[in-house]
Amino acid sequence: MATRALVNGKIVTVDERFSVAAAAAVDGDRVAATGTTAEVLAAAGPRAEVIDLGGRTVIPGLIDNHNHFVRATEHVEVRLDGTRTRDAALAALRQGAAALAPGQWLLTLGGWHEEQWAGDRREFTLAELDAVAGGRPAFIQAQYDHAVVNTAWLDAAGVPPGAESRATGRVGGGLVALNRAASGFPPPADRAATARAVMSWYNRLGLTTVFDPGGIGVAETSYDTLAALAARGELTLRVCTTLGDGASVDGSGAARAAGLAARISRARPFDGDAWYDRIAVGEIYHAAFHWDHQGSPPRPTAADIADAGVILRAAAAAGWPVQTHSVTASGLGLVFDAYEEASRHHPVRPLRWSVTHAEGITAAHLERARRLGVTVQLRSQGVIRAGQPAPAPLRLLHDSGLSWGLGTDGTRAAQVNPFVTLWWAVTGRSLGGERTLGEPLDREAALIAHTRGNARLMFRENELGSVRPGLLADLLVLDRDYLTVPADEIRDITPVAVLVGGRVVHGSLRSLLPCQHGNPAQ
Ligand SMILES: [Zn+2]
Repeated sequence: MATRALVNGKIVTVDERFSVAAAAAVDGDRVAATGTTAEVLAAAGPRAEVIDLGGRTVIPGLIDNHNHFVRATEHVEVRLDGTRTRDAALAALRQGAAALAPGQWLLTLGGWHEEQWAGDRREFTLAELDAVAGGRPAFIQAQYDHAVVNTAWLDAAGVPPGAESRATGRVGGGLVALNRAASGFPPPADRAATARAVMSWYNRLGLTTVFDPGGIGVAETSYDTLAALAARGELTLRVCTTLGDGASVDGSGAARAAGLAARISRARPFDGDAWYDRIAVGEIYHAAFHWDHQGSPPRPTAADIADAGVILRAAAAAGWPVQTHSVTASGLGLVFDAYEEASRHHPVRPLRWSVTHAEGITAAHLERARRLGVTVQLRSQGVIRAGQPAPAPLRLLHDSGLSWGLGTDGTRAAQVNPFVTLWWAVTGRSLGGERTLGEPLDREAALIAHTRGNARLMFRENELGSVRPGLLADLLVLDRDYLTVPADEIRDITPVAVLVGGRVVHGSLRSLLPCQHGNPAQ
């Protein structure tokens, strides 16, 4: 018996055989059955609400394996993700500013870059931001690259007359500089409301689960807000978090390492529930060892390596999964060295340790990963600016048979729309139209990597990532068919209904009824 039957559709189950069914039944928060419409109606029983999908495609809820969601709840933002022209971006800022509550600043904290636009790619000017912001301070940041501000922001920040930014409106980039600027922004008046707004934004895009990797400068109060929402059953997004050292980008020293190792030993992973849980150590746990970016690989001292080893051995001993921020080939080499060393004390294979980002990963690394049972979390950051960073070899990774998945690294370093990530993986192009991936993936492989693949990285494969009886009913009803739309349209796919745990958190199932709107498949 079931509470709801979704029939006459195309259910892309993303099960082990990538089978497609016409119908699925949901009972409470779980999938009860899949099959033909007749089979599912029979299994669902007479009391189930019957939803005619009208031929629409349903896929599992999308999982972002690397999304700084918690940090995104710290400010009210007007987002420019995916804007395709400079004019459209300026219009978005103007509209967004007009809708802000009194006292809020006009903030855009990454997730876009001028290089994603067609045609005119000039940065905004101070005069333009003065014009759109309506007297509010404006701080418009492109990824972690640079920001353009307005006069009201320069005044609020106490920038002296004659400073260069007074003329250009441009302030320098980099994570540390931008975090410092962010510390001067007004906090949201209502943190819970801001968190709800971010969840609603993610749901609208088709995200039902995020793996949040912590990060530099994320406040404990931000986790408290989410824990309180979780305790009241008010999350609409499943949020998995990490235990790490987000204090600074140059964290080092034996005392710091011993402190984190002690915290790791005292805590236990997976002590939450299906909505809110802490499931790994990472992505930063000893920055001096593994802080790593394209063009600036880590250069740890022997002491840094030994200190990281203390942390990793503690994690292995206490049964913690670990994910390590690692980008370059040499940085990845250091991480695999350290994982192998930790595994000599406590085998890490059952813990599915991970390398996250991993753009520089090579066939030799993959061999080491195979021996250790290490998994790989990739991100689509390069979709915004071709080659920034150069993408990981998706095809090599896919063909290796290792466990891996797709994410973004949003909301600052990257955009967060999972359909943009899928489009990037399938077309190999950046938003600005440049060729960026050597060998793209087929649609099936890309979708697996954004659903079931990520579920396995998170030890959630028996709960999430496919539409199968017994799994949680996290489902997207799409406005068009992911498997057959022209490849270039994948980035425009929009869910018309999003279910998390069987509950509609975005859109509506009723609007699908053919008697109201005709058969949308025709
Ligand atoms: Zn990272």
